[in-house]
Amino acid sequence: MEVNSIENGIVIDHIRAGSGLKLLSHLGIDTRTDTVALIMNATSGKHGRKDIIKIENLLDVDLTALGLLDCGATVNFIEHGKLVRKIKLSLPERVVGVIRCKNPRCVTSVEPAIPHVFLLVDPDTEEYRCEYCDESVRVNER
Ligand SMILES: [Zn+2]
Repeated sequence: MEVNSIENGIVIDHIRAGSGLKLLSHLGIDTRTDTVALIMNATSGKHGRKDIIKIENLLDVDLTALGLLDCGATVNFIEHGKLVRKIKLSLPERVVGVIRCKNPRCVTSVEPAIPHVFLLVDPDTEEYRCEYCDESVRVNER
């Protein structure tokens, strides 16, 4: 499947097959107005199958949230038809306001104004711990 390249915007490549839709919903894209292409199950030499997202006229994305959702993806920034920056996503060390603590006794459950802060404890299992109560979360189980 071929989709025209974009002049200005971002291309998120090497997304784990089946995760593209989840990433798209977390990016806060307005699908009524933004020009977006989601390619699902594209063939990929290295990984077998992958998803690809192309978004026109958007250069500001939350790389922390994206890294959390799919740490194997790459983000390509395109300006005037040229690749100007390529970022390989990784699991963020500290995550604010993306993962929510499920512990009902945690201060973040009681006080809505307190941000949910999670710290990476184990990159292999993708395990994070709440900064306040030590509740642990494995991000791929969300
Ligand atoms: Zn907590």
